[in-house]
Amino acid sequence: MTIDLTNTADTPEHAELRCAVRTLCAQFGEEYWQQRDRNREYPEEFVDTLTKAGYLSALIPTEYGGLGLGITEAAIILQEVNRSGGHAAACHAQMYTMGALLRHGSEAQKQRYLPEIASGNLRLQAFSITEPDAGSNTPDITTFAAKDGEGYVVTGHKNWTSRIEQSDLLMLLARTEKRPEDPAQRTNGISLFLVDLRDVRATAPQTLVVEPVRTMFNYATNQVWYKQMRIPASALIGQEGNGFRYVIDGWNAERILLASEAIGDGYWFLKTAIRYPNHRTVFGHAIGANQGVQFPLARAYTQVLAADMMRNRAAELFDAGENCGAEANAAKFVASEASWQAGNVCLDTHGGYGFVDKYNVERKFRETRVYQVAPVNNNMILAFLGQHVLGLPRSY
Ligand SMILES: Cc1cc2nc3c(=O)[nH]c(=O)nc-3n(C[C@H](O)[C@H](O)[C@H](O)COP(=O)(O)OP(=O)(O)OC[C@H]3O[C@@H](n4cnc5c(N)ncnc54)[C@H](O)[C@@H]3O)c2cc1C
Repeated sequence: MTIDLTNTADTPEHAELRCAVRTLCAQFGEEYWQQRDRNREYPEEFVDTLTKAGYLSALIPTEYGGLGLGITEAAIILQEVNRSGGHAAACHAQMYTMGALLRHGSEAQKQRYLPEIASGNLRLQAFSITEPDAGSNTPDITTFAAKDGEGYVVTGHKNWTSRIEQSDLLMLLARTEKRPEDPAQRTNGISLFLVDLRDVRATAPQTLVVEPVRTMFNYATNQVWYKQMRIPASALIGQEGNGFRYVIDGWNAERILLASEAIGDGYWFLKTAIRYPNHRTVFGHAIGANQGVQFPLARAYTQVLAADMMRNRAAELFDAGENCGAEANAAKFVASEASWQAGNVCLDTHGGYGFVDKYNVERKFRETRVYQVAPVNNNMILAFLGQHVLGLPRSY
């Protein structure tokens, strides 16, 4: 018997979408993800299949060839990828960054890129924000885009630009003015660019230096140096100097989607964990009958379910165009904690076998840990809630 633990609040359309994504993901079994993880290979075939089915264009309006869906549907898609045993991090950036292009991009940028992204001809899977000396304090970035004739010349170093080698387009955050002395103005003078990497690679590849970084899980992340990289003025998104605001604008969507990946992991851990103790017999009975095994599983389930419901509420508010800062941040927090808790319980339930790679538990355990850390650390989530929701003094 397979127990479907997923929260059953689905409308018929959502149930159909969930089922279709599950069917697609079933083509890429745990062996597939295991191999990619062992070799630290990008899951090209999976990303291509998901793209061709249209799911990565969920947030692109239909007039540009996308599915024209909301964040609720995008959340279902990413959740189901992770629930299937896959790893949505390979392709989530297209959804995370889409809002900046949709809300602040020019009509010319949208006409030029969105249909091509929707059809799968172009990938927008990379964003380049974090820098070694700035870390979580984004206004401290120093990568500089200097005006030069018809365009800009970009110089700087970013330490976590994931999937740039697998992407045709890049969202790049750079200063276009020196950081103002006045702390209240610190977010001014930062601009957001949509860089067509094909042009850079074709005309001046030496100006973009990419060094892959091997991490504890399969994540195509890199250090990147921009060495006087030329980009045209048409790459600028919105108004010069307003880029930080455009990035902040996308944070609620990002939090909701990230929570969804963690919830997907949580359900994978639970379904994997409950399969095992019904069959594993020690001391003459199934280990699942022991409360020391059963209760941690039940506890982890309550936490994943709570995160699922909170994420649904945040997505509902987001799609209704209402303020959802508190709910989106809280959902990211509880979902990342719940998936980690479920991962620990799944590992414990499997005993020594949890550490053996062919069972995938140790892989998912490594993968799910990042949701507490990136793209935003849970401390920063708590700081947001403390300051903006609870009205406490700013802590940083
Ligand atoms: C696998 C991976 C992929 C990534 N991909 C990308 C990407 O594609 N593009 C991109 O731009 N970035 C990416 N990042 C970067 C990620 O967004 C950063 O790691 C994150 O923003 C934190 O920056 P940092 O690592 O420098 O940590 P730091 O800012 O140095 O923080 C270190 C620790 O101190 C805590 N801390 C710092 N200041 C405070 C404070 N005031 N109050 C409380 N706690 C505080 C943090 O919460 C954290 O626990 C990726 C990171 C990882 C791990």
